[in-house]
Amino acid sequence: MATASSGSSRHPRRRTRPEVSVLRIGHRAGRDPRLTTHVALTARALGASRMYLHPPDPELAARLGRVAERWGGSFTVNGVEQWRPFVRDWDGAVVHLTMYGIPIDRAAARIRRHRRVLLVVGGAKVPPQLYRLAQYNVAVGNQPHSEVAAVAIVLDRLLGGPPPRSFRGATQRIVPSARGKKVVGPGATGA
Ligand code: SAM
Repeated sequence: MATASSGSSRHPRRRTRPEVSVLRIGHRAGRDPRLTTHVALTARALGASRMYLHPPDPELAARLGRVAERWGGSFTVNGVEQWRPFVRDWDGAVVHLTMYGIPIDRAAARIRRHRRVLLVVGGAKVPPQLYRLAQYNVAVGNQPHSEVAAVAIVLDRLLGGPPPRSFRGATQRIVPSARGKKVVGPGATGA
């Protein structure tokens, strides 16, 4: 008997882990590089494939590139000049993270069925048009908090926990220790 994971044509393999990209809009280069860097680091560490950034910030993209050189994986930060056409033309589900949306635990199963997902996170002010362009407006609780927390929790719900400790191509990796810091590999210089 064919099962959901057998790959037969009558019962095609059900994708349970979409490919997830993050779009951060409203970034203020030079004003909040740390916050946007943390959105990118969190997205990368919890399994997103890439982050798109509006407006583009080549310095931040280069910083993330250096992280990937040491810690592996293929995560990139790509600048987006015009976020509206980018969102409108996205080939997949557009999921806007907002405290006004529907609870992630109600939407996660439906979102996981999509092959490609774009998680959109805002900055200090979110343009109202985004609420209409998004296929899903999703909340992580209906209280204001942070784009970093929202991205982390939604990635966990969609992808099911952090990927393996070491990413492909890493020159260093952490050996989990109850005390102290243990980093091994040819590029090991500490965190
Ligand atoms: N007052 C802003 C607004 O118009 O939504 C809040 C901006 S908040 C500082 C920055 C971003 O964090 C939001 O655009 C959203 O992506 C994310 N965020 C904050 N709280 C959230 C929540 N409870 N659920 C989902 N995302 C949230």
